[in-house]
Amino acid sequence: MEQQPVRGRFAPSPSGRMHLGNIYCALVCWLAVRSAGGQLLLRIEDLDTLRCTRENARVLLDDLRWLGLDWDEGPDVGGPNAPYFQSDRFDRYAAALHTLEQAGLVYPCFCSRAEIHAASAPHLSDGSVVYAGTCRGLTPARRAALARTRRPALRLRVPDETFGFEDGHYGPQSENLAQNCGDFILRRSDGVYAYQLAVVADDILMGVNQVVRGRDLLGSVPRQLYLYRLLGAQPPRYWHIPMLTAPDGRRLSKREADLDLGELRARYPGPEPILGRLAWRCGLLDRDEPASARDLLPLFDWKRLKTGDIAVAPGEF
Ligand code: GLU
Repeated sequence: MEQQPVRGRFAPSPSGRMHLGNIYCALVCWLAVRSAGGQLLLRIEDLDTLRCTRENARVLLDDLRWLGLDWDEGPDVGGPNAPYFQSDRFDRYAAALHTLEQAGLVYPCFCSRAEIHAASAPHLSDGSVVYAGTCRGLTPARRAALARTRRPALRLRVPDETFGFEDGHYGPQSENLAQNCGDFILRRSDGVYAYQLAVVADDILMGVNQVVRGRDLLGSVPRQLYLYRLLGAQPPRYWHIPMLTAPDGRRLSKREADLDLGELRARYPGPEPILGRLAWRCGLLDRDEPASARDLLPLFDWKRLKTGDIAVAPGEF
């Protein structure tokens, strides 16, 4: 089979300043595409327009440039797949939703959060729940009655089927959608499209064939594979990477302003000490020494990258 040129994407959510974990993800994503001679596109995932602002996105682009990471298509450089802000792409998600509706697989769900939790057992280890299918079989009359007082979310029916795939970094994975996930949301009751639908619609339309992202999204892949099938497209190759954590195992997050790039840029005149230390901690470099993204390019090898999460000590950066 003819090998397609690699097309990867970095798809950050501009809900705050990038933190060390986002930097690590952007770096590996960039290295994985550039080392394969591929093309990288930047897509701003700002579906949640309350938390994700254009100003945050502007700072994000500036931070990525400061890190020495570049892209071939994106909000500022343009490209054949514009627009690159998800908040400007709702018509694409509506079209994908329409395809799923035509297949008879979408239904309105009127359940409140509390009702979903009450009806679901057991809860999954990540705190999420398997939707019990409460609204799956509502009669048209019942739907019409409920629609008078509540705005529904839209859910996708899932089959009792196991979706398996080979993650490039974590190996074989599988999940039975009906048993471990349940019918999932495509559009929230406030009209905002769900991440799962938007990301798959965009990756299809943008011709993405390589997805590199944090392993917190590993569990999304089976749902996304199902969407690829329903939308008639070939899924990308997935590579998930470990998370950066605080010493207590807590994930670094933007909300806690853990080592955000505003602080790091004030502390370091350039990105090399940060990128070099990250590369050393994730297994790419043998020693802790400053390195630019370009310096790391010839060293990039998935086999060198660790799979275990990386705990960052206070004061390490
Ligand atoms: N927007 C997501 C995030 O910032 C990443 C989505 C993806 O890579 O599929 O966590």
